[in-house]
Amino acid sequence: MDNTLNIPETTLKRVVVIGGGFAGINFIKHIKDEKLQIVLLDRHNYHLFQPLLYQVATAGLEPGSIASPLRNLLTPDDDFIFRVARVDYIDQEKNRLKTGDGALAYDYLVIACGATPNFFGNKELSKTVHTLKTAEDAISIREYFFSHFEKAARSTDKEKHEKPLEVTIVGGGPTGVEVAGAIAELKRNILVKDYPTLNVDSIRITLVEALDRLLPAMSGYSGRISKKYLKKLGVEVKLGKMVNSYDGETIEFKDETTQNCDMLIWAAGVKGNLINGFTDDQIEKGQLLVDEFNRVAVYENVFAIGDIAFQKDKNYEKGLPMLAQVAIQQGNHLGKNFTNIINGNPLEPFRFKNKGAMATVGRNKAVVELSAKIKFGGFLGWLSWILVHLFQILGFRRKLVVMGHWIYSYFTYDKGNRIIIHNQP
Ligand SMILES: Cc1cc2nc3c(=O)[nH]c(=O)nc-3n(C[C@H](O)[C@H](O)[C@H](O)COP(=O)(O)OP(=O)(O)OC[C@H]3O[C@@H](n4cnc5c(N)ncnc54)[C@H](O)[C@@H]3O)c2cc1C
Repeated sequence: MDNTLNIPETTLKRVVVIGGGFAGINFIKHIKDEKLQIVLLDRHNYHLFQPLLYQVATAGLEPGSIASPLRNLLTPDDDFIFRVARVDYIDQEKNRLKTGDGALAYDYLVIACGATPNFFGNKELSKTVHTLKTAEDAISIREYFFSHFEKAARSTDKEKHEKPLEVTIVGGGPTGVEVAGAIAELKRNILVKDYPTLNVDSIRITLVEALDRLLPAMSGYSGRISKKYLKKLGVEVKLGKMVNSYDGETIEFKDETTQNCDMLIWAAGVKGNLINGFTDDQIEKGQLLVDEFNRVAVYENVFAIGDIAFQKDKNYEKGLPMLAQVAIQQGNHLGKNFTNIINGNPLEPFRFKNKGAMATVGRNKAVVELSAKIKFGGFLGWLSWILVHLFQILGFRRKLVVMGHWIYSYFTYDKGNRIIIHNQP
Protein backbone atom coordinates (compact mmCIF):
# COMPACT_ATOMS: atom_id res chain seq x y z
CA MET A 1 0.00 0.00 0.00
CA ASP A 2 1.35 3.47 -0.92
CA ASN A 3 2.25 5.51 2.09
CA THR A 4 4.39 8.59 1.91
CA LEU A 5 2.59 10.70 4.52
CA ASN A 6 3.88 8.65 7.47
CA ILE A 7 0.52 6.96 8.04
CA PRO A 8 0.86 3.76 10.16
CA GLU A 9 0.14 0.47 8.39
CA THR A 10 -3.07 -1.15 9.64
CA THR A 11 -5.26 -4.20 9.23
CA LEU A 12 -8.33 -1.93 9.55
CA LYS A 13 -10.11 -0.46 6.52
CA ARG A 14 -8.72 3.00 5.78
CA VAL A 15 -11.14 5.92 5.29
CA VAL A 16 -9.48 9.02 3.88
CA VAL A 17 -11.37 12.30 4.35
CA ILE A 18 -10.32 15.32 2.27
CA GLY A 19 -11.27 18.54 4.06
CA GLY A 20 -11.86 19.45 7.70
CA GLY A 21 -14.74 21.86 7.03
CA PHE A 22 -18.30 21.50 8.34
CA ALA A 23 -18.95 18.35 6.30
CA GLY A 24 -15.64 16.59 7.04
CA ILE A 25 -15.54 17.14 10.80
CA ASN A 26 -19.17 16.19 11.37
CA PHE A 27 -18.63 13.00 9.39
CA ILE A 28 -15.50 12.11 11.39
CA LYS A 29 -17.19 12.81 14.75
CA HIS A 30 -19.74 10.12 13.85
CA ILE A 31 -17.29 7.40 12.84
CA LYS A 32 -14.32 8.13 15.12
CA ASP A 33 -15.13 5.21 17.42
CA GLU A 34 -15.76 2.67 14.65
CA LYS A 35 -13.17 -0.01 13.82
CA LEU A 36 -11.65 1.98 10.96
CA GLN A 37 -8.41 3.83 10.37
CA ILE A 38 -9.47 7.42 9.62
CA VAL A 39 -7.06 9.80 7.89
CA LEU A 40 -8.03 13.46 7.58
CA LEU A 41 -6.11 15.51 5.01
CA ASP A 42 -6.54 19.28 4.86
CA ARG A 43 -4.34 21.91 3.25
CA HIS A 44 -4.83 24.02 6.40
CA ASN A 45 -4.32 22.94 10.00
CA TYR A 46 -7.57 24.59 11.07
CA HIS A 47 -11.32 24.51 10.54
CA LEU A 48 -12.65 27.89 9.42
CA PHE A 49 -16.04 29.30 10.42
CA GLN A 50 -16.68 31.07 7.11
CA PRO A 51 -19.97 32.80 8.01
CA LEU A 52 -17.95 35.25 10.15
CA LEU A 53 -15.13 35.84 7.65
CA TYR A 54 -16.63 39.20 6.77
CA GLN A 55 -16.05 40.34 10.37
CA VAL A 56 -12.34 39.49 10.06
CA ALA A 57 -12.25 41.41 6.76
CA THR A 58 -13.81 44.46 8.43
CA ALA A 59 -11.71 44.42 11.63
CA GLY A 60 -14.47 43.17 13.96
CA LEU A 61 -12.76 39.87 14.85
CA GLU A 62 -9.26 38.47 14.64
CA PRO A 63 -8.76 35.32 12.50
CA GLY A 64 -7.99 33.12 15.53
CA SER A 65 -11.49 33.62 16.91
CA ILE A 66 -13.11 31.92 13.88
CA ALA A 67 -10.42 29.32 13.11
CA SER A 68 -10.14 26.16 15.23
CA PRO A 69 -7.01 23.95 15.07
CA LEU A 70 -8.11 20.58 13.66
CA ARG A 71 -5.85 18.68 16.10
CA ASN A 72 -7.77 20.38 18.88
CA LEU A 73 -11.24 19.66 17.46
CA LEU A 74 -10.52 16.01 16.70
CA THR A 75 -7.81 14.67 18.99
CA PRO A 76 -5.47 12.32 17.08
CA ASP A 77 -5.16 8.74 18.37
CA ASP A 78 -3.90 5.37 17.06
CA ASP A 79 -6.69 5.11 14.48
CA PHE A 80 -7.33 8.77 13.72
CA ILE A 81 -4.52 10.55 11.91
CA PHE A 82 -4.43 14.13 10.69
CA ARG A 83 -1.99 15.46 8.09
CA VAL A 84 -1.70 18.90 6.56
CA ALA A 85 -1.60 18.06 2.85
CA ARG A 86 -3.14 19.34 -0.36
CA VAL A 87 -4.74 16.62 -2.46
CA ASP A 88 -4.00 17.22 -6.15
CA TYR A 89 -5.27 14.10 -7.88
CA ILE A 90 -7.58 11.15 -7.21
CA ASP A 91 -7.07 7.87 -9.08
CA GLN A 92 -10.49 6.28 -8.59
CA GLU A 93 -9.49 3.16 -10.54
CA LYS A 94 -6.56 2.41 -8.22
CA ASN A 95 -8.10 3.72 -4.94
CA ARG A 96 -5.21 6.09 -4.53
CA LEU A 97 -4.73 9.83 -4.19
CA LYS A 98 -1.78 12.14 -4.73
CA THR A 99 -0.75 15.03 -2.53
CA GLY A 100 2.13 17.49 -2.83
CA ASP A 101 3.99 15.23 -0.35
CA GLY A 102 3.27 11.86 -1.92
CA ALA A 103 0.53 9.31 -2.55
CA LEU A 104 -1.85 7.48 -0.22
CA ALA A 105 -4.09 4.46 -0.80
CA TYR A 106 -7.64 4.27 0.58
CA ASP A 107 -10.42 1.75 1.02
CA TYR A 108 -13.05 4.50 1.26
CA LEU A 109 -12.71 8.12 0.19
CA VAL A 110 -14.86 10.99 1.49
CA ILE A 111 -14.37 14.22 -0.46
CA ALA A 112 -15.35 17.29 1.56
CA CYS A 113 -13.09 19.93 0.05
CA GLY A 114 -15.68 22.72 -0.16
CA ALA A 115 -16.01 25.49 -2.72
CA THR A 116 -14.00 28.21 -4.42
CA PRO A 117 -15.05 31.64 -5.80
CA ASN A 118 -16.92 31.48 -9.09
CA PHE A 119 -16.05 34.06 -11.75
CA PHE A 120 -18.48 32.50 -14.23
CA GLY A 121 -15.74 31.98 -16.82
CA ASN A 122 -14.33 35.52 -16.54
CA LYS A 123 -10.76 34.55 -15.53
CA GLU A 124 -9.40 38.10 -15.89
CA LEU A 125 -11.55 39.22 -12.95
CA SER A 126 -9.74 36.86 -10.58
CA LYS A 127 -6.55 38.92 -11.04
CA THR A 128 -7.95 42.27 -9.92
CA VAL A 129 -10.73 41.60 -7.40
CA HIS A 130 -10.66 40.64 -3.71
CA THR A 131 -12.48 37.41 -2.84
CA LEU A 132 -13.78 36.36 0.57
CA LYS A 133 -13.43 32.60 0.95
CA THR A 134 -10.37 31.98 3.11
CA ALA A 135 -8.74 33.50 6.18
CA GLU A 136 -5.99 34.82 3.87
CA ASP A 137 -8.67 36.58 1.75
CA ALA A 138 -10.22 38.23 4.81
CA ILE A 139 -6.85 39.45 6.12
CA SER A 140 -5.95 40.70 2.65
CA ILE A 141 -9.18 42.75 2.42
CA ARG A 142 -8.61 44.23 5.88
CA GLU A 143 -5.01 45.14 5.11
CA TYR A 144 -5.75 46.59 1.67
CA PHE A 145 -8.60 48.64 3.11
CA PHE A 146 -6.66 50.20 5.98
CA SER A 147 -3.46 50.59 3.92
CA HIS A 148 -5.50 52.57 1.43
CA PHE A 149 -6.49 55.07 4.14
CA GLU A 150 -2.95 55.28 5.51
CA LYS A 151 -1.69 56.05 1.99
CA ALA A 152 -4.33 58.72 1.52
CA ALA A 153 -3.51 60.24 4.93
CA ARG A 154 0.21 60.58 4.16
CA SER A 155 -0.38 61.82 0.61
CA THR A 156 -0.08 65.52 -0.18
CA ASP A 157 -2.51 65.06 -3.07
CA LYS A 158 -5.67 66.94 -2.03
CA GLU A 159 -7.83 64.81 -4.33
CA LYS A 160 -6.92 61.69 -2.29
CA HIS A 161 -8.09 63.48 0.85
CA GLU A 162 -11.34 64.53 -0.79
CA LYS A 163 -12.20 61.10 -2.24
CA PRO A 164 -10.30 58.56 -0.17
CA LEU A 165 -12.02 55.36 -1.38
CA GLU A 166 -14.63 53.97 -3.73
CA VAL A 167 -15.44 50.38 -2.84
CA THR A 168 -17.80 48.09 -4.71
CA ILE A 169 -19.12 44.78 -3.45
CA VAL A 170 -20.41 42.48 -6.18
CA GLY A 171 -23.08 39.94 -5.21
CA GLY A 172 -26.29 40.68 -3.32
CA GLY A 173 -26.46 37.41 -1.37
CA PRO A 174 -25.89 37.25 2.42
CA THR A 175 -22.09 37.70 2.10
CA GLY A 176 -22.37 40.81 -0.10
CA VAL A 177 -25.06 42.34 2.11
CA GLU A 178 -23.06 41.63 5.29
CA VAL A 179 -19.80 43.03 3.89
CA ALA A 180 -21.50 46.18 2.56
CA GLY A 181 -23.24 46.80 5.91
CA ALA A 182 -20.04 46.22 7.90
CA ILE A 183 -17.99 48.60 5.72
CA ALA A 184 -20.71 51.25 6.04
CA GLU A 185 -20.56 50.93 9.84
CA LEU A 186 -16.75 51.15 9.76
CA LYS A 187 -17.04 54.37 7.78
CA ARG A 188 -19.59 55.85 10.15
CA ASN A 189 -18.12 54.80 13.50
CA ILE A 190 -14.37 54.34 13.01
CA LEU A 191 -12.91 55.97 9.90
CA VAL A 192 -14.44 59.31 10.70
CA LYS A 193 -12.49 59.35 14.01
CA ASP A 194 -9.31 57.65 12.77
CA TYR A 195 -8.78 59.88 9.73
CA PRO A 196 -9.88 63.43 10.63
CA THR A 197 -7.96 64.94 7.69
CA LEU A 198 -9.79 62.84 5.09
CA ASN A 199 -13.25 63.52 3.73
CA VAL A 200 -14.66 60.24 5.04
CA ASP A 201 -18.23 61.25 4.13
CA SER A 202 -17.32 60.99 0.46
CA ILE A 203 -16.35 57.30 0.70
CA ARG A 204 -18.62 55.58 -1.79
CA ILE A 205 -19.87 52.08 -0.97
CA THR A 206 -21.81 50.35 -3.74
CA LEU A 207 -23.44 46.93 -3.66
CA VAL A 208 -24.05 45.48 -7.12
CA GLU A 209 -26.38 42.55 -7.86
CA ALA A 210 -27.11 41.02 -11.28
CA LEU A 211 -30.71 40.11 -10.40
CA ASP A 212 -33.43 42.65 -9.69
CA ARG A 213 -33.38 42.11 -5.89
CA LEU A 214 -31.11 41.45 -2.92
CA LEU A 215 -30.90 38.09 -1.08
CA PRO A 216 -32.33 36.10 -4.03
CA ALA A 217 -32.32 32.84 -2.03
CA MET A 218 -34.62 34.40 0.59
CA SER A 219 -38.12 35.90 0.28
CA GLY A 220 -38.98 39.24 -1.32
CA TYR A 221 -39.61 40.55 2.22
CA SER A 222 -35.98 39.94 3.28
CA GLY A 223 -34.69 41.39 0.01
CA ARG A 224 -36.68 44.60 0.50
CA ILE A 225 -35.85 45.01 4.21
CA SER A 226 -32.12 44.46 3.69
CA LYS A 227 -32.10 47.02 0.87
CA LYS A 228 -33.84 49.52 3.14
CA TYR A 229 -31.30 48.89 5.94
CA LEU A 230 -28.36 49.30 3.56
CA LYS A 231 -29.70 52.55 2.14
CA LYS A 232 -30.08 53.86 5.70
CA LEU A 233 -26.39 53.08 6.24
CA GLY A 234 -25.48 55.02 3.09
CA VAL A 235 -24.82 52.07 0.78
CA GLU A 236 -25.76 52.61 -2.86
CA VAL A 237 -27.56 49.47 -4.10
CA LYS A 238 -27.43 48.79 -7.84
CA LEU A 239 -29.70 45.98 -9.03
CA GLY A 240 -29.84 44.29 -12.44
CA LYS A 241 -26.17 45.10 -13.15
CA MET A 242 -23.56 42.57 -14.30
CA VAL A 243 -19.84 43.21 -14.12
CA ASN A 244 -18.02 42.68 -17.39
CA SER A 245 -14.49 43.70 -16.44
CA TYR A 246 -12.43 45.50 -13.80
CA ASP A 247 -8.92 46.79 -14.43
CA GLY A 248 -8.17 47.83 -10.85
CA GLU A 249 -9.58 51.35 -11.38
CA THR A 250 -12.79 51.15 -13.41
CA ILE A 251 -15.62 48.65 -13.51
CA GLU A 252 -17.28 48.11 -16.84
CA PHE A 253 -20.78 46.67 -16.66
CA LYS A 254 -22.48 44.49 -19.29
CA ASP A 255 -24.78 47.43 -20.15
CA GLU A 256 -21.58 49.38 -21.07
CA THR A 257 -21.84 51.84 -18.17
CA THR A 258 -18.73 52.30 -16.01
CA GLN A 259 -17.90 53.17 -12.41
CA ASN A 260 -14.67 54.21 -10.67
CA CYS A 261 -13.60 51.68 -8.08
CA ASP A 262 -10.49 51.45 -5.87
CA MET A 263 -11.45 48.12 -4.37
CA LEU A 264 -13.80 45.45 -5.71
CA ILE A 265 -14.91 42.70 -3.34
CA TRP A 266 -16.26 39.69 -5.24
CA ALA A 267 -19.09 37.93 -3.39
CA ALA A 268 -21.00 36.83 -6.48
CA GLY A 269 -20.97 33.10 -5.87
CA VAL A 270 -18.95 29.92 -5.44
CA LYS A 271 -18.47 26.65 -7.30
CA GLY A 272 -17.13 23.25 -6.30
CA ASN A 273 -13.43 23.13 -5.45
CA LEU A 274 -12.79 20.25 -7.84
CA ILE A 275 -9.76 17.98 -7.52
CA ASN A 276 -8.32 16.46 -10.72
CA GLY A 277 -9.22 12.88 -11.61
CA PHE A 278 -12.96 13.08 -12.32
CA THR A 279 -14.63 12.64 -15.69
CA ASP A 280 -17.12 15.13 -17.17
CA ASP A 281 -20.08 12.86 -16.44
CA GLN A 282 -19.17 12.87 -12.72
CA ILE A 283 -19.39 16.67 -12.62
CA GLU A 284 -22.56 18.80 -12.60
CA LYS A 285 -22.41 22.61 -12.46
CA GLY A 286 -18.82 22.49 -11.22
CA GLN A 287 -19.61 20.07 -8.37
CA LEU A 288 -19.31 16.29 -7.99
CA LEU A 289 -22.61 14.66 -8.89
CA VAL A 290 -23.73 12.36 -6.06
CA ASP A 291 -26.69 10.05 -5.54
CA GLU A 292 -29.01 10.12 -2.52
CA PHE A 293 -26.37 8.25 -0.47
CA ASN A 294 -23.71 10.84 -1.38
CA ARG A 295 -21.85 8.34 -3.58
CA VAL A 296 -19.98 9.76 -6.56
CA ALA A 297 -21.17 7.91 -9.68
CA VAL A 298 -19.57 4.57 -10.62
CA TYR A 299 -17.29 3.89 -7.63
CA GLU A 300 -19.18 2.69 -4.54
CA ASN A 301 -16.34 3.59 -2.17
CA VAL A 302 -16.07 7.28 -3.16
CA PHE A 303 -18.38 9.80 -1.45
CA ALA A 304 -18.74 13.58 -1.62
CA ILE A 305 -20.39 15.82 1.00
CA GLY A 306 -20.84 19.55 1.60
CA ASP A 307 -20.23 22.29 -0.96
CA ILE A 308 -18.32 20.01 -3.34
CA ALA A 309 -21.35 17.71 -3.79
CA PHE A 310 -24.15 18.31 -6.28
CA GLN A 311 -27.20 16.54 -4.90
CA LYS A 312 -30.81 17.02 -5.95
CA ASP A 313 -33.92 16.28 -3.96
CA LYS A 314 -37.58 16.78 -4.75
CA ASN A 315 -37.62 20.30 -3.27
CA TYR A 316 -34.27 21.27 -4.79
CA GLU A 317 -34.32 20.30 -8.46
CA LYS A 318 -31.39 22.65 -9.15
CA GLY A 319 -29.30 21.07 -6.39
CA LEU A 320 -29.07 21.67 -2.63
CA PRO A 321 -27.78 25.12 -1.59
CA MET A 322 -24.09 25.46 -0.73
CA LEU A 323 -24.66 26.17 2.95
CA ALA A 324 -23.16 25.12 6.27
CA GLN A 325 -26.42 23.45 7.37
CA VAL A 326 -26.39 21.19 4.28
CA ALA A 327 -22.71 20.29 4.86
CA ILE A 328 -23.33 19.52 8.56
CA GLN A 329 -26.40 17.37 7.85
CA GLN A 330 -24.66 15.47 5.03
CA GLY A 331 -21.59 14.87 7.23
CA ASN A 332 -23.73 13.50 10.06
CA HIS A 333 -25.83 11.40 7.71
CA LEU A 334 -22.88 9.85 5.91
CA GLY A 335 -21.38 9.04 9.33
CA LYS A 336 -24.54 7.07 10.19
CA ASN A 337 -24.42 5.36 6.79
CA PHE A 338 -20.82 4.26 7.44
CA THR A 339 -22.07 2.46 10.54
CA ASN A 340 -24.62 0.79 8.23
CA ILE A 341 -21.83 -0.20 5.83
CA ILE A 342 -19.75 -1.69 8.67
CA ASN A 343 -22.75 -3.62 10.04
CA GLY A 344 -23.84 -4.80 6.59
CA ASN A 345 -27.11 -2.83 6.78
CA PRO A 346 -28.71 -0.99 3.82
CA LEU A 347 -27.84 2.69 3.32
CA GLU A 348 -30.39 5.38 4.22
CA PRO A 349 -31.05 8.13 1.64
CA PHE A 350 -30.16 11.71 2.64
CA ARG A 351 -33.03 14.19 3.08
CA PHE A 352 -32.19 17.86 3.69
CA LYS A 353 -34.13 19.58 6.51
CA ASN A 354 -34.12 23.32 5.90
CA LYS A 355 -33.74 25.13 9.23
CA GLY A 356 -34.23 28.60 7.75
CA ALA A 357 -32.01 31.42 6.56
CA MET A 358 -30.68 34.67 7.96
CA ALA A 359 -28.45 37.61 7.09
CA THR A 360 -27.35 40.63 9.09
CA VAL A 361 -26.81 44.12 7.74
CA GLY A 362 -25.36 45.66 10.88
CA ARG A 363 -26.11 46.67 14.46
CA ASN A 364 -29.76 45.83 15.32
CA LYS A 365 -30.45 45.02 11.67
CA ALA A 366 -30.95 41.50 10.32
CA VAL A 367 -33.48 39.39 8.45
CA VAL A 368 -34.50 35.91 9.59
CA GLU A 369 -36.74 33.37 7.85
CA LEU A 370 -37.65 30.26 9.80
CA SER A 371 -40.33 29.18 7.31
CA ALA A 372 -42.43 30.66 4.49
CA LYS A 373 -44.69 32.19 7.16
CA ILE A 374 -42.30 33.03 10.01
CA LYS A 375 -40.04 35.91 9.03
CA PHE A 376 -38.82 38.87 11.02
CA GLY A 377 -36.15 41.55 11.03
CA GLY A 378 -34.86 44.40 13.21
CA PHE A 379 -33.46 43.91 16.71
CA LEU A 380 -35.11 40.50 17.22
CA GLY A 381 -33.66 39.28 13.91
CA TRP A 382 -30.23 40.61 14.83
CA LEU A 383 -30.35 38.98 18.29
CA SER A 384 -31.37 35.66 16.70
CA TRP A 385 -28.50 35.98 14.21
CA ILE A 386 -26.04 36.57 17.10
CA LEU A 387 -27.30 33.61 19.15
CA VAL A 388 -27.31 31.19 16.19
CA HIS A 389 -23.76 32.15 15.18
CA LEU A 390 -22.45 31.96 18.74
CA PHE A 391 -23.98 28.51 19.05
CA GLN A 392 -22.40 27.35 15.76
CA ILE A 393 -18.83 28.56 16.42
CA LEU A 394 -16.77 25.57 17.49
CA GLY A 395 -15.11 25.57 20.92
CA PHE A 396 -16.04 27.22 24.21
CA ARG A 397 -13.00 29.57 24.21
CA ARG A 398 -13.84 30.90 20.73
CA LYS A 399 -17.51 31.42 21.69
CA LEU A 400 -16.38 33.47 24.71
CA VAL A 401 -13.86 35.48 22.68
CA VAL A 402 -16.38 36.30 19.93
CA MET A 403 -19.09 37.17 22.46
CA GLY A 404 -16.61 39.41 24.30
CA HIS A 405 -15.72 41.25 21.07
CA TRP A 406 -19.37 41.72 20.17
CA ILE A 407 -20.39 43.03 23.59
CA TYR A 408 -17.41 45.41 23.66
CA SER A 409 -18.18 46.67 20.12
CA TYR A 410 -21.86 47.06 20.87
CA PHE A 411 -21.24 49.46 23.74
CA THR A 412 -18.15 51.28 22.40
CA TYR A 413 -18.82 51.20 18.61
CA ASP A 414 -15.14 50.21 18.33
CA LYS A 415 -13.53 47.53 16.13
CA GLY A 416 -10.14 46.77 17.54
CA ASN A 417 -8.53 44.68 14.80
CA ARG A 418 -7.51 47.45 12.39
CA ILE A 419 -4.07 45.95 12.04
CA ILE A 420 -1.80 46.09 8.98
CA ILE A 421 0.79 43.31 9.19
CA HIS A 422 1.95 42.55 5.65
CA ASN A 423 1.10 45.62 3.59
CA GLN A 424 3.86 47.92 4.84
CA PRO A 425 5.25 50.82 2.75
C1 LIG B 1 -18.00 34.50 3.38
C2 LIG B 1 -18.92 33.31 3.55
C3 LIG B 1 -20.06 33.43 4.34
C4 LIG B 1 -20.90 32.34 4.51
N1 LIG B 1 -22.01 32.48 5.30
C5 LIG B 1 -22.82 31.42 5.50
C6 LIG B 1 -23.94 31.52 6.35
O1 LIG B 1 -24.21 32.59 6.91
N2 LIG B 1 -24.71 30.42 6.54
C7 LIG B 1 -24.42 29.23 5.93
O2 LIG B 1 -25.14 28.23 6.14
N3 LIG B 1 -23.36 29.09 5.11
C8 LIG B 1 -22.56 30.16 4.89
N4 LIG B 1 -21.47 30.03 4.06
C9 LIG B 1 -21.25 28.76 3.37
C10 LIG B 1 -20.59 27.74 4.28
O3 LIG B 1 -19.45 28.28 4.89
C11 LIG B 1 -20.25 26.52 3.45
O4 LIG B 1 -21.43 26.01 2.89
C12 LIG B 1 -19.59 25.44 4.29
O5 LIG B 1 -18.36 25.90 4.82
C13 LIG B 1 -19.35 24.19 3.45
O6 LIG B 1 -18.71 23.23 4.24
P1 LIG B 1 -17.73 22.16 3.58
O7 LIG B 1 -17.30 21.27 4.68
O8 LIG B 1 -18.36 21.60 2.37
O9 LIG B 1 -16.50 23.03 3.05
P2 LIG B 1 -15.51 24.00 3.84
O10 LIG B 1 -16.07 24.40 5.14
O11 LIG B 1 -15.17 25.07 2.86
O12 LIG B 1 -14.24 23.08 4.10
C14 LIG B 1 -13.45 22.58 3.06
C15 LIG B 1 -12.10 22.17 3.63
O13 LIG B 1 -11.38 21.48 2.62
C16 LIG B 1 -10.03 21.90 2.62
N5 LIG B 1 -9.52 21.68 1.26
C17 LIG B 1 -9.95 22.24 0.12
N6 LIG B 1 -9.29 21.74 -0.94
C18 LIG B 1 -8.41 20.85 -0.46
C19 LIG B 1 -7.45 19.99 -1.07
N7 LIG B 1 -7.28 19.95 -2.39
N8 LIG B 1 -6.69 19.19 -0.27
C20 LIG B 1 -6.85 19.22 1.09
N9 LIG B 1 -7.76 20.01 1.70
C21 LIG B 1 -8.54 20.80 0.94
C22 LIG B 1 -10.10 23.37 3.02
O14 LIG B 1 -8.87 23.81 3.59
C23 LIG B 1 -11.24 23.36 4.04
O15 LIG B 1 -10.77 23.16 5.35
C24 LIG B 1 -20.60 31.11 3.88
C25 LIG B 1 -19.45 30.99 3.09
C26 LIG B 1 -18.61 32.09 2.93
C27 LIG B 1 -17.38 31.95 2.08
